[in-house]
Amino acid sequence: MTVGRASRPALFLDRDGTLMEEVDHCRDPNDVRAIEGAVTELARARALGWASIIVTNQSGIGRGYFTEEQFESVQRELIRQLDGLIDASYMAPDHPDNPSPRRKPAPGMILEAAAEHGLDLSRSWMIGDKALDIEAGKNAGVRTILVETGYGRKVTDCSPDHRVPTVVEAIRLILDGTPLA
Ligand SMILES: [Mg+2]
Repeated sequence: MTVGRASRPALFLDRDGTLMEEVDHCRDPNDVRAIEGAVTELARARALGWASIIVTNQSGIGRGYFTEEQFESVQRELIRQLDGLIDASYMAPDHPDNPSPRRKPAPGMILEAAAEHGLDLSRSWMIGDKALDIEAGKNAGVRTILVETGYGRKVTDCSPDHRVPTVVEAIRLILDGTPLA
């Protein structure tokens, strides 16, 4: 889907286990560790005209494990460690038993971001460490990369376009393999 002549391509990025080390239901900014080397690639992506958008399920809110304020404090710390190279963040707090159309694997957050930021989905990618990230990307019509950080090493029940060790190799593959039209 092209949403306009001036629209940009995007990197849709899962958060936990993809941009930062996996911490089960992270609620403390002191536990945040950005994946090493991610900043360099995000900076390169920005310089080349790509938008970087976080799309994250946070069922810990729906389950009552932590509050939206705690989520925001973790989010702020991650974005600080990533030198502010994130253009926007979308979060689904839904409990898995009662998912909205925003909770991955549904494509709601990706479609919302595309509409709000004028993103060209035909040139965009979803990067994540779980099958539901890959399915969300496919449901939104973007290409997909599974990373082997977080839960990714154990994932066998999906068919990403590519599978790479970390978000660093994923962004390199995208930037070096799919030049802007
Ligand atoms: Mg994840």
